Amino acid sequence: MESTRDVFDVTIIGSGPVGLYGAFYAGLRGMKTKILDALPQLGGQLVTLYPEKYIYDVAGFQKILAKDLAKNLIEQALSLNPTVCLEEKVTALKTLDDGLSKLFELVTDKGRSHFTKSVILTAGIGAFKPKKLEIPGIETYEGNGIFYFVNEKKVFSDKEILIVGGGDSAVDWALNLLDTAKKITLIHRRDQFRAHEESVKELMLSPIEVRTFHELKLIRGNSKLEEAVIFDNRTLEEKNLKVDAVILNLGFHADLGPVREWGLVIEKGGIKVNYRMETNVQGIFAAGDVANHPGKLKLISTGFGEVATAVNFAKNLLDPASRVFPGHSSDMRSLPS
Ligand SMILES: Cc1cc2nc3c(=O)[nH]c(=O)nc-3n(C[C@H](O)[C@H](O)[C@H](O)COP(=O)(O)OP(=O)(O)OC[C@H]3O[C@@H](n4cnc5c(N)ncnc54)[C@H](O)[C@@H]3O)c2cc1C
Repeated sequence: MESTRDVFDVTIIGSGPVGLYGAFYAGLRGMKTKILDALPQLGGQLVTLYPEKYIYDVAGFQKILAKDLAKNLIEQALSLNPTVCLEEKVTALKTLDDGLSKLFELVTDKGRSHFTKSVILTAGIGAFKPKKLEIPGIETYEGNGIFYFVNEKKVFSDKEILIVGGGDSAVDWALNLLDTAKKITLIHRRDQFRAHEESVKELMLSPIEVRTFHELKLIRGNSKLEEAVIFDNRTLEEKNLKVDAVILNLGFHADLGPVREWGLVIEKGGIKVNYRMETNVQGIFAAGDVANHPGKLKLISTGFGEVATAVNFAKNLLDPASRVFPGHSSDMRSLPS
């Protein structure tokens, strides 16, 4: 685990498309950069809300799947080696000012503090949290039988798994784990899926046991998860399934929550910024969906421009000798290492 006492030039809160591009851009300007996100994966809305949808209005691509755009942005951002801290929701922002220099302390729900000279808030519509089911004892097995994300396929190697949900994530993971799991059952409370049509067709032709109109009622086990009780929501008939793991893909809640308490001016539901993407607190910038200014458009393409502006002004704030205008990247011989 990296030392949180390190002071970064810029910390980007949020790893959606705008945060990722901001991290790359900050690296390009030679800034020591950190990315923080509440989720266990990078990509924001692109990977959590609509990974399988095509985007038609991002420059340079006639069309691109949201998950592929995220993959490209992640690759680009990581190429300049920012420090990445995932599964950390920033809950408090404190300004430490000794009269000579200003430092921000970002406190996360992991109880850790991150120190930074500037902050770029790209928190989108807020920190995402997976929707959960109110089933007795479910928390006991979280991370040890109950999962909301698949980080490593090998965790499910040779396991009997139950996937709950009817969206892209549920269907994609069911198909994706076919080569890894011993047996997969997918239940969905309706008979209409909210997933890509081709993927649903593939699901129905696959060896996955699909049970529509079924919901999860109970889970049982001792030191590890052993059984799930599912029921048909039309007849209430119950069935016991032997399971090693349950993956709940029920969607996400987004909550701007703590950001509202950081003393930043909020206007029309967004953080108010000026033409430099500065908030009312010097050293704190905002860009992307979370930012608001006259003529605001909540689009990926405008977010990219906003975050490049924020980085350039942050650079100039920290190092007044450096110019705001970075020059043309095409004049560089190569990327900074
Ligand atoms: C279904 C759908 C289709 C869309 N189609 C298009 C399209 O075709 N073209 C287009 O331009 N736009 C589209 N959009 C909008 C686009 O996805 C957003 O404009 C874009 O994702 C905004 O990026 P962002 O980086 O600002 O924020 P987000 O993608 O929302 O990412 C914000 C990140 O910040 C993290 N975060 C928030 N608060 C905290 C905190 N306190 N601590 C730590 N982490 C935090 C969140 O977990 C999240 O990962 C679509 C949106 C949806 C829902």
